[in-house]
Amino acid sequence: MEDYPRTIAEFEARFSSQAACVDYLFELRWPNGYLCPRCGNERGWRVRGTLIECARCSYQTSVTAGTVFHRTRKPLTMWFRAMWWITSLKTGVSALGMQKVLGLGSYRTAWTWLHKLRRAMVRPGRERLSGRIEVDETYVGGTEEGLRGRKTEKKALVAVAVEENGRATGRIRMARIRDASASSLEAFIEESIELGSLVHTDGWQGYSGLKQLGYKHEVTVLAGRDESACELLPHVHHVAGLLKTWLAGTLHGGISREHLDYYLDEFTFRYNRRTSRSRGKLFYRLVQQALEVDPVPYQAMVKHVRNNRLSDH
Ligand SMILES: [Zn+2]
Repeated sequence: MEDYPRTIAEFEARFSSQAACVDYLFELRWPNGYLCPRCGNERGWRVRGTLIECARCSYQTSVTAGTVFHRTRKPLTMWFRAMWWITSLKTGVSALGMQKVLGLGSYRTAWTWLHKLRRAMVRPGRERLSGRIEVDETYVGGTEEGLRGRKTEKKALVAVAVEENGRATGRIRMARIRDASASSLEAFIEESIELGSLVHTDGWQGYSGLKQLGYKHEVTVLAGRDESACELLPHVHHVAGLLKTWLAGTLHGGISREHLDYYLDEFTFRYNRRTSRSRGKLFYRLVQQALEVDPVPYQAMVKHVRNNRLSDH
């Protein structure tokens, strides 16, 4: 059963103590009952802090071990508020905004939390898109047009896949790719789209091997000079436009190639749940996924940032 607060009042009433947050994580992490990692016993209870103790062998494990909250020194109530805030805003969030709203002591903490939580926005082993899907690539960063098929140093190339539901768009997937070669595009498509689906692209040679991979392939090419690329693959161009607007509005002060991946994940998370009426359910999903992804230390996150910025910020 999906159990989550519906309103901010419910949220505040429920998650005002560390113990309440630990209980919630416990329920989400072991929905079918606790399982002792040492002896396999099926009963355990909360002892102190985040620790759970096995009812048989007394082995203790932390409810946050191996999750996004691994070894955090901040109270879980603060993490919960951060997740509620992130999911209750319809647009993106900035580290500075988060630092102010949560009263976090340092900008670095806010920045680290945001990046950790962005990593949790992609569910490990998520379903692939299916049905009829438009695919195209777009450049992010920089104002000059990139040449297709050529590797760019200054801009990032992003592959975008969008389910066509008639005139409406369904779910999306996106990823940064190295170039527009067949091998890069095919890797993205195999990762994102179920075999047997119909993939709709333009006439770029990078897509010519899709039938051999096991997809149906529909190609639309420009018929006349009056037509623009937007009319060719309207769904994917609509989404790519929203992505660029969102990136420009969300990211003040720079974006690195590595971090772009996580912004794409955040955009996808928000977009695919844009019609969800309950923000509480987004919060629930984020907490659930934060328990499933591995922790990443701050040092690993900032490793390549300095010499790898995109050109337009
Ligand atoms: Zn045990």
